[in-house]
Amino acid sequence: MMPLFFHQPGGRFASIFAVILCAMSVVMGSYVYSACQKASADYTTLISDILLAQQATPQLRAALEEGSRRPDSEHIEYIEYFTALSKQHLDNIQGSIERHRYLIADVEYLNSYFNKLNNHLVELAQQTREAQRRPELVEALQPTAMEIGASQVWLYNQLLEDVHTIASQQRLIMQRLSIAVSVLLVLMVSAATTLCLAVIYLRSQRTVMHQQLLTDELTGLYNRRHLVNVAFAAITQARRDQAPLSLMLLDIDHFKQVNDTYGHPTGDEVLRQISQQLRLLCRPSDTLARIGGEEFCLLMPNTATHDALQAADRLRREIEVNTLIGIDLHAHPTISIGVTTCQSGSLTFEQLYSFADKALYQAKALGRNRVESLLPPSAPSAYNDPQTYAQTFIHEPSDS
Ligand code: GH3
Ligand code: MG
Ligand code: MG
Repeated sequence: MMPLFFHQPGGRFASIFAVILCAMSVVMGSYVYSACQKASADYTTLISDILLAQQATPQLRAALEEGSRRPDSEHIEYIEYFTALSKQHLDNIQGSIERHRYLIADVEYLNSYFNKLNNHLVELAQQTREAQRRPELVEALQPTAMEIGASQVWLYNQLLEDVHTIASQQRLIMQRLSIAVSVLLVLMVSAATTLCLAVIYLRSQRTVMHQQLLTDELTGLYNRRHLVNVAFAAITQARRDQAPLSLMLLDIDHFKQVNDTYGHPTGDEVLRQISQQLRLLCRPSDTLARIGGEEFCLLMPNTATHDALQAADRLRREIEVNTLIGIDLHAHPTISIGVTTCQSGSLTFEQLYSFADKALYQAKALGRNRVESLLPPSAPSAYNDPQTYAQTFIHEPSDS
């Protein structure tokens, strides 16, 4: 079904368009996914860790100054406490950075400064423990403490600046993300619409093809293929219902002369108009088909010979008198008809057709513009001679 669809001009366009839209949707989808990952990062904890660390810096400096002035055990403990607190803040910040996988790359250049600050804080902690035993060493803590203070101020400011920059990039990503999501939605709706339209187009093409397969292009009547299918079902039904089934073959008389005298296009128009007239004259339950050049066939379920002959004669007379629009022929077209009937679906379509064809041949032989019938031997009918497949001439050509 799809290859058939693809080879239709519109179908090919719809398929390519749908594939492009699907590919674009996939690309947009993956962008949206990665943008979502970045945009969903929450830097609040990290920022609050940095702010706490910044607050601890002057506290450590103050503790050192106070410890230098009064190097007693209590003040040295303060120094020890704020050193440990500064170390704790530093560890928290590093831990926070590690949790943000998109941030690590952006602040990687600060790693050496973090390590240096960490080493200085470890060193200060050791020196402070030493100073607990020998308070005169408190003074010696100053150089390391100065270096730590300067490092902390620069490092935390720098880190805060970087995080703010990244957060503003995040806002930009959010804006782009909402645009991307909108575009993605439009693409997906377009892809879905295109596919729906393609399916509708395909279905309509199938209906048209199905129609073309069963109808005759010139007259719009059913063709032989459809007739054979319908006849098969009708014979089965007639057998089940024990009902009669009649078949009529209709042939335009001397049609070759119409073509020869007025040309093929006029002949075509005559065919079209007679087909139209026959169609309007037939019962909806009957199936009318064009089975040859100027030959038609009418399948009549539930119709006995008597009724079929009456119907055939009515058709013959109507065609004889009906006017053709826009065509002026010196002799009005007439039709000859052969009729046959089978009882209870006892014949195949080919057999039915053969009886009707012989009856039609007889109608032609007896002068045209008339109806003849030929019934199978078993058919219990007043119109049948059981000895010889009798042919029943029921209507003389009218005088008009
Ligand atoms: P008869 O009364 O014995 O049926 O004579 P006829 O001329 O109708 O029959 P014949 O079989 O000799 O000729 C049928 C003609 O129908 C020949 C052919 O050119 C014409 N015909 C067949 N199909 C078409 C068609 O689609 N269009 C037109 N214009 N003519 C067609
Ligand atoms: Mg003919
Ligand atoms: Mg013919």
